[in-house]
Amino acid sequence: MNDETLQTWVEQVSLEWFGRPFKHRATFNSRLKATGGRYFTRSHNIEISPHQLEAFGAEETEKIIKHELCHYHLHIMKRGYQHRDQDFKQLLTQVGASRYCRTLPEREARKPKPFKYKLVCGACGMEYLRRRRLDPTRYRCGKCAGKLSLKTLD
Ligand SMILES: [Zn+2]
Ligand SMILES: [Zn+2]
Repeated sequence: MNDETLQTWVEQVSLEWFGRPFKHRATFNSRLKATGGRYFTRSHNIEISPHQLEAFGAEETEKIIKHELCHYHLHIMKRGYQHRDQDFKQLLTQVGASRYCRTLPEREARKPKPFKYKLVCGACGMEYLRRRRLDPTRYRCGKCAGKLSLKTLD
């Protein structure tokens, strides 16, 4: 799906569910990872994460579109358009929008890699944990400048 299709989609959802036209731009932004969508108060534009569509499909993405349109229309009508506002909460329920600018599961699933190695200082015994193998002769101890050796953690 491209930006043109998304634009048409958002315009349709706007008319069908809000009875008002969406007159700005809706685009995909692949850098959006933590949230499914974004509304910009300055430009009135909407951005939707394409990862959203991949992960949850069209039905869930439409709920995100509705959520962003709630921000959009209330903001334009100068009503409470923020998450904490009563107007916003009511409109969300009314149109069946998603409650949150939803967090994608891949983000939650991404854990830091475990440490596999440690550099040990031969002089003072200081240890430095490392995720990747490296050449210990190229480094010195940060505390005493002693020579380091690499050990594998198990
Ligand atoms: Zn929101
Ligand atoms: Zn040292």
